[in-house]
Amino acid sequence: MPNLFDYDAAGLENLLAGWGEKPFRARQLLRWIHQFGVRDFAAMTDLGKALRATLAAEATLSLPQLRRDSLSPDGTRKWLLEVGAGNAIETVLIPEPERTTLCISSQAGCALECAFCATGRQGFNRNLSSAEIIAQLWWANHCLRQDAVGIAPRRVSNVVMMGMGEPLANFENVVVALRLMLDDFAYGLSRRRVTVSTSGLVPMIDRLRDSCPVALAVSLHAPNDALRDRLVPINRKWPIDALLAACRRYLDKAPRDFIMFEYVLLRGVNDGTKHAHELVARLREVPCKVNLIPFNAFAASGFERSTPQAVSRFREILLNAALITTVRRTRGDEIEAACGQLAGRVQDRTRRRERRAQEVQA
Ligand code: SAH
Ligand code: SF4
Repeated sequence: MPNLFDYDAAGLENLLAGWGEKPFRARQLLRWIHQFGVRDFAAMTDLGKALRATLAAEATLSLPQLRRDSLSPDGTRKWLLEVGAGNAIETVLIPEPERTTLCISSQAGCALECAFCATGRQGFNRNLSSAEIIAQLWWANHCLRQDAVGIAPRRVSNVVMMGMGEPLANFENVVVALRLMLDDFAYGLSRRRVTVSTSGLVPMIDRLRDSCPVALAVSLHAPNDALRDRLVPINRKWPIDALLAACRRYLDKAPRDFIMFEYVLLRGVNDGTKHAHELVARLREVPCKVNLIPFNAFAASGFERSTPQAVSRFREILLNAALITTVRRTRGDEIEAACGQLAGRVQDRTRRRERRAQEVQA
């Protein structure tokens, strides 16, 4: 039975056409489901009785269950959603005076094994469906609506796909969810306020440019291939040159005229002055901004956060080279909601230990 949370406008129109319904019904449905947060077909009063009966018999509106709602003293809020078979994913809300940003997960776990990332450490289980991705935004707005009885409710104004998983490794499902985020009848966010963050799946960056160009953030983390090969293993497949070329191509259609490069600062690993100078040289090729991320620790990570002195030295070198550089404020550390700390609950199907052992033996 189709779950209507899995459908963007075009998909819904198709589905409805199969029941002999007109395309404008899709827009009505999108508004009920995503704008008003209604999940009961009987309450969708302008749809007509016959259509409501068909929907009740032939379709569902299923969402993952909300399992935990944690609030950090700094206002950051984290939700744990149950996605079945023992897996749970996390979503983080970051309220700021001028915007409310939601950090969304795209996979249960991640297969890419970046050395400093808690999600990567736990291995990969599966891609999230479009419904499970958009559910995170639906739940966030739902909870904000409930909080705000009697006052103007806050709504999510920005989405960053920087939670668990690599969004471009789950391309089809992520794009349906992105289209819903952008659709005026659903969440109505502008392309500039929706950001996909990728560790560098080059062919998929091109596909995103052609099918749904939103703001792009690229997790660089190292200024040369030798170091990036270690920190972000996907670099062995698509090295920095190929990645920067894809970034330049992306800018032809991007809603913003720069790429955001993310760079996690790891003490004694990638935070030296020589790394900063090397980074400046590499980034001359691409209009960009740089976001430096202080490393967020997790158990047995094997890395340490750079000292504040190293962070400001690094930043100064970039700024002196006229690179717009910000340092990400760490938020939600108390509830393990900071970048790279999301672990949710994932049944690891990659059998990483066994695989590693085999690699060592081979
Ligand atoms: N898979 C995507 C998006 C999710 S990760 C990507 O890698 O871009 C979002 C950001 O958090 C990435 O830049 C990632 O490198 C960074 N990150 C991962 N682990 C981190 C940690 N322990 N501390 C700080 N940032 C981390
Ligand atoms: Fe996956 Fe991103 Fe973590 Fe790398 S940093 S393991 S791509 S979630």
